Amino acid sequence: MSQPGIPASGGAPTGLPAQNRASSASGSLYTNGPVQNALMSSQVSVNEGYNSQLPGSYPHLIPAKTLNPVSGQSNYGGSQNVSPLSIYQGPGQTPYRPPVASNPVTPSLHSGPVPRMPLPTSQNPAATPMPSGSFLPGAIVQPPLNWQYNYPSTGSQTNHCPRASSQPAVSGNTNLTSHQYVSSGDPSLQNNFIKSATPQHANKNPTMSVGYSYPSLPPGYQNTAPPSTTGMPPSSLNYSSGPQGFTQTPLGANHLTASMSGLSLHPEGLRVINLLQERNMLPATPLQPSVPNLHEDIQKLNCNPELFRCTLTSIPQTQALLNKAKLPLGLLLHPFKDLVQLPVVTSSTIVRCRSCRTYINPFVSFLDQRRWKCNLCYRVNDVPEEFMYNPLTRVYGEPHRRPEVQNATIEFMAPSEYMLRPPQPPVYLFVFDVSHNAVETGYLNSVCQSLLDNLDLLPGNTRTKIGFITFDSTIHFYSLQEGLAQPQMLIVSDIEDVFIPMPENLLVNLNESKELVQDLLKTLPQMFTKTLETQSALGPALQAAFKLMSPTGGRMSVFQTQLPTLGMGALRPREEPNQRSSAKEIHLTPSTDFYKKLALDCSGQQVAVDLFLLSGQYSDLASLGCISRYSAGSVYYYPSYHHQQNPVQVQKFQKELQRYLTRKIGFEAVMRIRCTKGLSIHTFHGNFFVRSTDLLSLPNVNPDAGYAVQMSVEENLTDTQLVSFQSALLYTSSKGERRIRVHTLCLPVVSTLNEVFLGADVQAISGLLANMAVDRSVTASLSDARDALVNAVIDSLSAYRSSVLSNQQPGLMVPFSLRLFPLFVLALLKQKSFQTGTNARLDERIFAMCQVKNQPLVYLMLTTHPSLYRVDNLSDEGALSINDRTIPQPPILQLSVEKLSRDGAFLMDAGSVLMLWVGKNCGQNFLSQVLGVQNYALIPQIMTDLPELETPESARIIAFISWLREQRPFFPILYVIRDESPMKANFLQNMVEDRTESALSYYEFLLHIQQQVNK
Ligand SMILES: [Zn+2]
Repeated sequence: MSQPGIPASGGAPTGLPAQNRASSASGSLYTNGPVQNALMSSQVSVNEGYNSQLPGSYPHLIPAKTLNPVSGQSNYGGSQNVSPLSIYQGPGQTPYRPPVASNPVTPSLHSGPVPRMPLPTSQNPAATPMPSGSFLPGAIVQPPLNWQYNYPSTGSQTNHCPRASSQPAVSGNTNLTSHQYVSSGDPSLQNNFIKSATPQHANKNPTMSVGYSYPSLPPGYQNTAPPSTTGMPPSSLNYSSGPQGFTQTPLGANHLTASMSGLSLHPEGLRVINLLQERNMLPATPLQPSVPNLHEDIQKLNCNPELFRCTLTSIPQTQALLNKAKLPLGLLLHPFKDLVQLPVVTSSTIVRCRSCRTYINPFVSFLDQRRWKCNLCYRVNDVPEEFMYNPLTRVYGEPHRRPEVQNATIEFMAPSEYMLRPPQPPVYLFVFDVSHNAVETGYLNSVCQSLLDNLDLLPGNTRTKIGFITFDSTIHFYSLQEGLAQPQMLIVSDIEDVFIPMPENLLVNLNESKELVQDLLKTLPQMFTKTLETQSALGPALQAAFKLMSPTGGRMSVFQTQLPTLGMGALRPREEPNQRSSAKEIHLTPSTDFYKKLALDCSGQQVAVDLFLLSGQYSDLASLGCISRYSAGSVYYYPSYHHQQNPVQVQKFQKELQRYLTRKIGFEAVMRIRCTKGLSIHTFHGNFFVRSTDLLSLPNVNPDAGYAVQMSVEENLTDTQLVSFQSALLYTSSKGERRIRVHTLCLPVVSTLNEVFLGADVQAISGLLANMAVDRSVTASLSDARDALVNAVIDSLSAYRSSVLSNQQPGLMVPFSLRLFPLFVLALLKQKSFQTGTNARLDERIFAMCQVKNQPLVYLMLTTHPSLYRVDNLSDEGALSINDRTIPQPPILQLSVEKLSRDGAFLMDAGSVLMLWVGKNCGQNFLSQVLGVQNYALIPQIMTDLPELETPESARIIAFISWLREQRPFFPILYVIRDESPMKANFLQNMVEDRTESALSYYEFLLHIQQQVNK
């Protein structure tokens, strides 16, 4: 094992590992190209390796669409028919692999010798559904569903406004369950165990010791005993030779078989529903994720679906079967979510498959105490000596009881071989627009105050660095050198060739220069109050910031209030208001590649850029947003920010800024998603850059970001009963530790279309389709994307009707799992990203699209299909009890004005906004006990807060609203809406089931779908 070299801090190229140089010299065009593949060599223990890319190079960063189709991938050949699902194969970000033909090592999950070149999406196999000719006569399989799903609650999120939080979430940087592993190393103990075979040996004589035929075994859960003990009850399996009992987890193959046949079926899940007759399928409680049809012993170990879920919880065993179902196959991830409980393991040996580098997980099989079989590539691996000791039980010889094998979500402290340089310090650079426009909004005051308040809460340690740049038509730097009496401002007016006026003291140690930093934050808001400078040199300011951060990496927070007008990256207004309502949005694509290129530069230097856009005017977010998208940053948008005119937006900004400043952060991160051999990931959605086949480069990772990937079935999974997916996120914590967070998801493989449908996860499907539709809007047009969404429903329900249902009933027949599919797609069509016929501003639409791509599924669904509650009659019946708080849980209502009544009050939770509509005849009790007014006319025209009254009614609704807010990382503004309020239109616009001027009602939509399905 060669340890990669450690470049000098600052990423100087001199320290590059020899291997990388060799790889560059091996004929690649890309001399500075991605070296990750070399690092991924199975001979090198670094896998989620460091990006050792040379500074300032991005010539290898070729946009996915310029990849040439690869010949010789004949298995991809398919029908040329343009199928409706195929049009979803938007660019996302397809993986990039350098065209080195002789590349000896594939970092991908495939153990096969041929690295697969990812195809351009247009060539993708998943994009080519087979003609659904084959009718499945009475495909009545026994779909053993287990809808009762209990997983250990790791759930509750942090509250983004901490003072209201009752359950402070634990940062992942804190070891709640930290196991300091000590290898027992006692030779006398070791000698007492059965000598294990080498993997090679096991390969040749697979049946000798385990009684299975290898390698065609189904994966997972074969923690069975050696043949001598076969037949004994699982709980009493012991190795007689060992000093400690080798008690098997009761997850033998016999259990697996049982799960496939003998489970009691939940009748509800098997229902076929005629949506035209049963129009209200919306559950009154939040829709739960589909539960994989697995034996409960497996399922209870499975990954929490809030972190990791699949669109199909039953994986079709062939691509042909997947094509027939016309449903998208993909994963949705929220990998860095704040967790209340997270097992953290410190061990000198992180046990991984020698072949595919999968981390050991609950779904591997132990052939015996000394060998485990990988559930992704099926290689048999040795159990390292250290792993034989279980620090939790202090028992030797129980490798299958180690926390790594008991937890689908786990974090490892990475040993030194996971680093190519010392972990970077936390570095925070703030870049402020101080033009006249910016000063007008008054935002600078808010930011500086918030920073002052939270300076000590910035995640970090004694190495934390901070710096500030301001800009208008020139760029201003601030020297914060320790010992200075006050901050020193340096102005650079040459924006054509930006340079850093002094290399040091612009990014300073926060502890050492704290007083100067505080000084600066106190004076900054006043410094520009008289400015007449209207120009904005954002591009040059970003270039300067990039130069400043290049040596270390870190987080750049950019605050911008207008369209950039000067220097590189200057933009022109291109929104045409009279085109807003048409489906032909022509400006969804960036007008320049400046921001993308700079983002890729940033990514290469481990810099992520977060953009806060506070602008009432068109600012071309389609172009600006690229700076965050490709550098793994986030976009925040406050369209009508003004410190006096829009106090509620100021409140939102402050709350969200506080969360932003204090939330957990991971630096210089990479994420890899592996899946069982036979499956292949081909398109990624989210904010990052795909560095090699399946390695996502994330200069920063934050707990509020979601990701999605699309998959296809490349090789038949006919002999496979279970497949697994594993995401591994390697990052540097703000305390300077290298950590790896691993999530593993296990799902069954099925052979019939009916089973595929029964296991469909409608929320995950809708979320993935939304991501695909964003890509489609950008690469083709909004109307194409809308058509594609509708066709997704028509195609899958047609497939269900023609291939699953045995008798052709009239109506619109859907499997229970997809009963909300038409509703959610209709909701997507009315979502800000994809709606037509409204006056949605272009930047607002683009922002909604950014959110689709970057938000975890749970928030995306709430934004798409809000939750409606009646709240004038809240009771404690069925209320949640959290600590000493009682949180009412009113039933969720359909989104239709039919559900409203004038004598009530209704709260709509649309994710980032809460709307409380008060009916004209609302009871006096509610008006006085909750709103604190004597009659309806006294409700203020603009009301964004509920008074805290000493009444049970007030306490209930405030508890409910606080609880809703606590559960998300952004701050939803509350609007109280009277009948004649201007906000009423927004409220009604979210009534997804109702007809609007330009959109069908739910029933009309169902009729349309039915017509197409029954064609
Ligand atoms: Zn493996």
